[in-house]
Amino acid sequence: MLPLRDADRVKVLSAVDRTGPRYRLRRIASITGSLALLVAVPALHLVRIDVWGGEHWLLGERVSFITALKGFMVAMGCLYGITFLTNMIFGRFFCGWGCPVGHVSRLGEEVSVRGKTRGKRVVQHVLGALFVASFLAAIMSWWVDPRVLIDGSAAARWSTVGAFLALSAGGFCHAFFWQFTFCRSACPVGIYYRFVTSRAPVGIAFDKASGNCVNCRSCEKVCPVDLDPKTFGDATAFDVDAQNRVSRNNDAECLRCGDCVEACRMIFAKKKGILPPLRLGRIFRRERKASPPQQPTAMDV
Ligand code: SF4
Ligand code: SF4
Repeated sequence: MLPLRDADRVKVLSAVDRTGPRYRLRRIASITGSLALLVAVPALHLVRIDVWGGEHWLLGERVSFITALKGFMVAMGCLYGITFLTNMIFGRFFCGWGCPVGHVSRLGEEVSVRGKTRGKRVVQHVLGALFVASFLAAIMSWWVDPRVLIDGSAAARWSTVGAFLALSAGGFCHAFFWQFTFCRSACPVGIYYRFVTSRAPVGIAFDKASGNCVNCRSCEKVCPVDLDPKTFGDATAFDVDAQNRVSRNNDAECLRCGDCVEACRMIFAKKKGILPPLRLGRIFRRERKASPPQQPTAMDV
């Protein structure tokens, strides 16, 4: 049985699913892009450290183990630099849209949300298993040439299969038991990002001034990391920088996943002409007046 908070989340996600989620396909596309990148780097021999055959690669050339290791460290450094810069602007956007581990957190919920019949549940399980298998195979291909499964000794083959199965068991537990608990409190990258994204100018904006919020709390219930996006725009959290721009103290833990926005949109789906107060977009705007700061206007991205 799901914990109460997760049961609430699944209930809201199911309601969103019935009214046609807008972000689902976009998220699948972005996660597929991340996965393709993970596969492409070792497959194109940009970096591979082959612990089985000793064929190490860097930028398309065979190199020594030490050189490949250095290349790996540089690649990780570049990745860190890119995510650091993108997080300064978009906050933990990567966590919500590009992180394969974050996507695995959703797979168990997908079975609850979309598996209305036995057949559909099987389909969701198969799709989830395929995603986890592809992700783990991609990760392993950075460290061992997949040809080990054909040309390797029995010991090498079985070690590779054993490592894959052990990782798959971890993936299963993550999808069905740990879910967003990992993203919320254990992911070292996420914990680090909280410190560097507290003033990211793109995120969840709550239009309190419109008075459109009906306080249904669907946005809170659906949030995978237990946030209340309605508080992101609280007057007490306003701040003014040296250029006289008004900011909302956007919550640094927000994954920018947009689930709350989808939930809010679902509430207003049949209320023609009324704009949902939650949006995923720019949070800064240049104030025309010097003071006092008023409610910022959110702009959709
Ligand atoms: S989902 Fe929208 S209407 Fe409901 S409480 Fe949240 S912001 Fe208000
Ligand atoms: S506040 Fe909204 S966008 Fe942020 S993590 Fe929660 S549901 Fe996702």
